[in-house]
Amino acid sequence: MKPLMVAITGGKGGTGKSTIACSLAIALADKFRVLLVDTDVECPDDHIILSVQRRKTDEVTLQIPSFDFSACSMCGKCSEVCRKNAIVFVEGRHPILVRDRCSGCGTCSLSCRNNAIKDEDMVAGFLYDGKLPENYDEKIRRNFRLLSGETTVNIESSARLVDSLMKNARENHDMDFIIIDTAAGVHCNVIHAIMDANLAFAVTEPTPFGSHDLKLILELLERLDVTSSIILNRAGIGNADPVLEVSRETGRPIVAEIEYSKDLMEAYSGGEPLNVPGIDTVAGLLEMQRC
Ligand code: SF4
Ligand code: SF4
Repeated sequence: MKPLMVAITGGKGGTGKSTIACSLAIALADKFRVLLVDTDVECPDDHIILSVQRRKTDEVTLQIPSFDFSACSMCGKCSEVCRKNAIVFVEGRHPILVRDRCSGCGTCSLSCRNNAIKDEDMVAGFLYDGKLPENYDEKIRRNFRLLSGETTVNIESSARLVDSLMKNARENHDMDFIIIDTAAGVHCNVIHAIMDANLAFAVTEPTPFGSHDLKLILELLERLDVTSSIILNRAGIGNADPVLEVSRETGRPIVAEIEYSKDLMEAYSGGEPLNVPGIDTVAGLLEMQRC
């Protein structure tokens, strides 16, 4: 049986999405084999939340263009075809690559009639795996694995790293659940992380910004045809009416309301096992989906 792939995502940063993803993975690992994939490659933090010592497993490279100016006729075609505006071209001069903008798509080298562009390897980032520390229950430790990635370059290229992470998750791990912790927002990396998910939970908080960004991520999930529902985190700290309104408008249910707990935050920042009250409801829903 294929693993159920569940994305934990959210339009806005700082809603506690990673804490929810980690806690859900731990709750499920009490009964199931769970792979938690931290796809927030710009700023991965699941290993910090869970006190996991990561082990570097793979290097991910991108192929970026390298110009042979002796063959270049200064036609400017490579700059014209680059949708990332990563090649600066001025009439009568050789093209200049802005490496930070390049996504390694290869279009420019294909377009050069003079064969003046060769591909050159650039390290885009690294993949890591990890196990829980010994203060977690033995059965949970056996059932749980973390996979995470960390980019060495900018956001334009890091979607390739997310793709490598997801490929590794699908092909190299025999699991019941794959929990995908995405970056915040609705950008390219998030799309690459959630497009294979069977379902998604959008994590939000009871603030006007929270509900605005919630709407954006729910629209994206709908376009990608991923079934979604809402987790309201930090319930009780603000006005939840805008979130309820988004839920009504979009027809997406709020499946859990997680109360803010200062004690919990202090406990997990001190390295204690993570156990978010209310997450069992979500784990129970997923258990039913799997049966
Ligand atoms: S397409 Fe080729 S020949 Fe034209 S400017 Fe670019 S590198 Fe030079
Ligand atoms: S590889 Fe793609 S993104 Fe990079 S410079 Fe060439 S066309 Fe632009």
